[in-house]
Amino acid sequence: MLQDECIFCRIIRGELPSVLLSETEDVISFLDIHPVNPGHALVVPKAHLSTLFDVPSALGVAVFDAVRAVGLAVMQGTGAQGLNVVQNNFSAAGQEVAHVHWHLIPRFEGDGHGLWRSGDYADAQQMHALAKDIRARL
Ligand code: 5GP
Ligand code: ZN
Repeated sequence: MLQDECIFCRIIRGELPSVLLSETEDVISFLDIHPVNPGHALVVPKAHLSTLFDVPSALGVAVFDAVRAVGLAVMQGTGAQGLNVVQNNFSAAGQEVAHVHWHLIPRFEGDGHGLWRSGDYADAQQMHALAKDIRARL
């Protein structure tokens, strides 16, 4: 995805409108155009980075500060009782905009938005084998 065509880069450059919540040197936050609940916000680094794995650690601090500050303000501004922070990487995980971003989704008791269905059981042998493979990469 070229920066010229990226929807979020175009919003950051002011070429497309957005409902702005906050802006710092490195991070911008605006409301999602198709909210799960009213007040659903996005926190977006200004640099065109595709996924979590492209984000430098130093930028992660600015992102975390924005997620926490905007997340609390979203909860308070909407009267939500909870907040989901969701971050999708690659299309298999539901990423539609290839410019890394964090969803801040205000949640209300009984709003009915189940995020996923958990498995009924975990295969212990498979868990240990997978954990071995994962640990070997850390
Ligand atoms: P993803 O599926 O990539 O994690 O999430 C992309 C999000 O960006 C979606 O929730 C979608 O509604 C939002 N989105 C897509 N285009 C626009 C836009 O032009 N403006 C705003 N504010 N949000 C957008
Ligand atoms: Zn971009």
